[in-house]
Amino acid sequence: MIVVGGGATGVGIAIDAASRGYDVLLLERSDFGKGTSSRSTKLVHGGVRYLEQGNVSLVMEALKERGLLARNAPHMVKNLAFVVPTYDWWESPFYGIGLKLYDLLAGKYGFGASRLLSREETLERLPTINTEGLRGGVVYFDGQFDDARLLIHMVFTAAAHGALLLNYAEVSGVVSDGEGFVGGVTYRDVETGETADARAKVVINATGPFTDALRHMADPGVAPMIAPSQGIHLVFDSSFLPGESAIMVPHTSDKRILFAIPWHGHTVVGTTDTAIPGAVEEPVATEQEIEFILGTAALYLAKKPTRADVLSVFAGIRPLVKAGESGSTAALSRDHTIRIEESGMITICGGKWTTYRRMAEDCVNQAATLALLPERPCVTETLRIHASEPLPPSTPLHYSLPYTEGNVIRAAREELARTVEDVLARRTRALFLNTAASMEMAPRVAALLEAETGRDPQLKEFQALAGNYRIQGT
Ligand SMILES: Cc1cc2nc3c(=O)[nH]c(=O)nc-3n(C[C@H](O)[C@H](O)[C@H](O)COP(=O)(O)OP(=O)(O)OC[C@H]3O[C@@H](n4cnc5c(N)ncnc54)[C@H](O)[C@@H]3O)c2cc1C
Repeated sequence: MIVVGGGATGVGIAIDAASRGYDVLLLERSDFGKGTSSRSTKLVHGGVRYLEQGNVSLVMEALKERGLLARNAPHMVKNLAFVVPTYDWWESPFYGIGLKLYDLLAGKYGFGASRLLSREETLERLPTINTEGLRGGVVYFDGQFDDARLLIHMVFTAAAHGALLLNYAEVSGVVSDGEGFVGGVTYRDVETGETADARAKVVINATGPFTDALRHMADPGVAPMIAPSQGIHLVFDSSFLPGESAIMVPHTSDKRILFAIPWHGHTVVGTTDTAIPGAVEEPVATEQEIEFILGTAALYLAKKPTRADVLSVFAGIRPLVKAGESGSTAALSRDHTIRIEESGMITICGGKWTTYRRMAEDCVNQAATLALLPERPCVTETLRIHASEPLPPSTPLHYSLPYTEGNVIRAAREELARTVEDVLARRTRALFLNTAASMEMAPRVAALLEAETGRDPQLKEFQALAGNYRIQGT
């Protein structure tokens, strides 16, 4: 099988197919996780919001996957307490009942029982919450992870089962099997510019927001199926949310959920849902989105965050599947879609990070049937995800972040990092946590990387790109 796209969906498929014993080649045009898979809210969750929409089966499936991931990658999934602060008399009973249902749906995969909190207990958990009119809260439990770090461990897991995964290998066309169907791809080594063909019994399109571009290569007449929607996050220091608990605001003015979560010693707040005309590799937060998050966070935090407090802003694109004539992307399905194209290529998109394993299982089942491969059962429900050894202490790269020279050397030697951006955006999360600090670290990272790889580590390109993670006027 050839899998195009090295995000959660593609790498998940590579793990599933390789661990069943199929031969797999995965091609990613940039770095693993360059797309949406490094830009999520970092939650392994059932999605309380889908419960509100009445989508019980989706929530149950995601809660099961949350539990399986916690079991198979215990080093990657953290159990996090989320507090819904309540200001109206009806809110505690209302959200309390909803979250009990969430607990029940998790069944044996539960992360802990939700319960009502008094005003004092709420303040204990959330010392910086706005106290004006605060009555109490409801606490429930969900998973949290580091998306790009999990992904690189998944790459190792797939490789350990025999898959070949290449980053910086862009698919630029499809190859016919001689009978009018897709029988392989043409890909370009982004570092050398050389192209080559690879053939397979089945080609899987897992290119997320770029799904339609690859579908178009296989069939120029095909109608687009993706309705891209952008979501952004603002990152602050931990003084805005100093405790161990996250805040969940169930209803923002645009009818979304807003999270403020402690992550890697910082506070991450998001997200938005902004329909955009088309996917781009480096999405940029709009002024409106930034103001919306700052304004909404200010309603709930005693210390109001300002533009000057924003350490980083990152944007990602949801590869949502179009649903009829719906005008708002917030109402579109998060269920995944698998489509067997007329060209014979398989397209998979939608879904969530949390459900990548289930998406992969469904997709490989379809692919094996289509390609008439010998039937082999999926084994990923109990398949452990790779873990790395802790790094020995080494020279720190910046006083404000925990990363050391050892992180850079390991990224280059073992973790397939090629550029400064790979190291600072995805192998470490410096760019996402503190953009200014990451720019200060970059020259040292570049020197270390160049010594390891003997290649141009693209320092200038990183400094230009990092501008997108700062907000104007700071
Ligand atoms: C703001 C936001 C918050 C989210 N929060 C959560 C959350 O907290 N929890 C959760 O479970 N889910 C969350 N999600 C959803 C989740 O992040 C996505 O469903 C998931 O990351 C999609 O992964 P993917 O592999 O399909 O796409 P991507 O990660 O975008 O991967 C597609 C890859 O294909 C590559 N590619 C494209 N074209 C080519 C080509 N021609 N050749 C080779 N490679 C190519 C791209 O470079 C890219 O790396 C969130 C999404 C967004 C946008």
